[in-house]
This record gives sequence, structure tokens and C-alpha cells, in this order.
Amino acid sequence: MTQSFNAPSTLRAGLTCRCPRCGQGKLFSGFLRIAPACEACGQSFAFADPADGPAFFVMTAVGVVVTGLWAWWAVVAKPPVWAQIALVIPAMIGGCLACLRPVKAWLVAEQFVHKAGEGEWTSLGKHGEGGFVFDRRKASGAEASPIPLRCTG
Ligand SMILES: [Zn+2]
Repeated sequence: MTQSFNAPSTLRAGLTCRCPRCGQGKLFSGFLRIAPACEACGQSFAFADPADGPAFFVMTAVGVVVTGLWAWWAVVAKPPVWAQIALVIPAMIGGCLACLRPVKAWLVAEQFVHKAGEGEWTSLGKHGEGGFVFDRRKASGAEASPIPLRCTG
């Protein structure tokens, strides 16, 4: 029997911090710790590894937005330095903390939808077997060397 799931969009799964497959189970078991599997549909979250992507995107976006607003506020209102420090530092920290969970859940949902994973490479063979072998002596036009190019034996 096959189960069908009403999969949410990656954006909805991210904003609600839910399973990207069914949209019901919680993605996180802690603040940023990803649960081992979905409590509703059983989907394993072992594939989920956004690494430092969420931190990078959140720090960059919050930094740009808060710094822009800060610069505008400082020019327009000329607030005292203590007020700038008292408002801007909590805004930076609070903005990052507020955005980390949904951005991480969104990136995990994107990984799920696009089946992202580690690159897997297939070998073309050992050195000297098949493929392209570049012979410098032939390319330079030099006489064939009495020394064999390959050991056969
Ligand atoms: Zn699920």
C-alpha cells in the first residue's frame, strides 16, 4: 500500500518548521536540533544537513537589514550612542534568533525536495588504464625513447 502525502511548499514547511514530506510532524526536537524522524509520517530526517547555510544566510540578511535601518535612523534622528547600542545589538541578536529556525527548516525542505546530498563520483579506472594517456615525448616530437613508457609484465 502506498501512502500519499499532501506535501507543503518548501516555504510553508520552513515557516511552520514542519516535516517537508507531510507538513504535520515537527522538524526540530530542540531549538535547532533536527529530530531523527517525522513523528507523523515516519520520514527519516537523516538526509537533513544544511551545515552552516542557515547561519550564513540569516547573519547576512539580518546584518544588512538592521544595519540599513540603523544608518537611516542615525542620519534622520541623530539618536545618542547609548540608544543606538541599546537598540541595535538586541535587534541583531533577536533578528538572528527569530530567523534561524524557519530558515534552517526551509533549507532542509529544499534539500528534501531536490534530493540534495553529498557528491558521488564514479571512478574512471586506475592510472594508466584506459582513458586519455598523455605522452610528453611523443608530443614534443622527440625520438622514441629506448626506455619503455610502460612496464608490461
Ligand atoms: Zn512527516
